[in-house]
Amino acid sequence: MATTPRSRVVTTVLATALTLVATLMGSAWSQAAYAGTDLVFTQPVEDYADYQPQTTCNRKLRPGVRLLADHLVLRGGGRGGIFRACKGSSVSEHKESRAFDWMLDATKKKDRQLARAFLDEIFAPDADGNPHALARRMGIMYIIWNDRQWSSYRNFKPKDYLPSSCTSRKKCSKTARHRDHVHISLTRKAAKGQLSWYVAQHSD
Ligand SMILES: [Zn+2]
Repeated sequence: MATTPRSRVVTTVLATALTLVATLMGSAWSQAAYAGTDLVFTQPVEDYADYQPQTTCNRKLRPGVRLLADHLVLRGGGRGGIFRACKGSSVSEHKESRAFDWMLDATKKKDRQLARAFLDEIFAPDADGNPHALARRMGIMYIIWNDRQWSSYRNFKPKDYLPSSCTSRKKCSKTARHRDHVHISLTRKAAKGQLSWYVAQHSD
């Protein structure tokens, strides 16, 4: 009779230890995946994505955009939206469920570092010297963060960003300036998870 409670304790301790190991392994795997160094790419790096503006309305969540959103949130920051209601005339890839808002605060150093580390990783050349390798493999069309925009169709050269609804930065909200989130738009193929970065994640 005395062994039952003790074995229960042992089982509980073991379960806790296993959960901890799994958590640590999970975080190690995620870190490796971010850098892209441990990913095995079976396809060559994709060309720079062309501009594919939103033309329809689609609420369906596809695997690529969800995978990228999950990876970003694992690094830190918060989960913003993917789909946005289609009313209004503004063009937004959110209306086609192929954009993600990664919630970071540009007034906080830690958040600026998170954004910087991500941009540095995806814009770095790969071992073969392909520039912006991971950004191309992820099918990123453009990123807007903290008054700046990086677009695949401009070879990701940073450009000052001010939305057309704002006459100056001073009169512009932190959301419109993208100082409270990083906006990431993906191509249609990327949103579906059909590019090399997404395929490599699945084959892990
Ligand atoms: Zn957005």
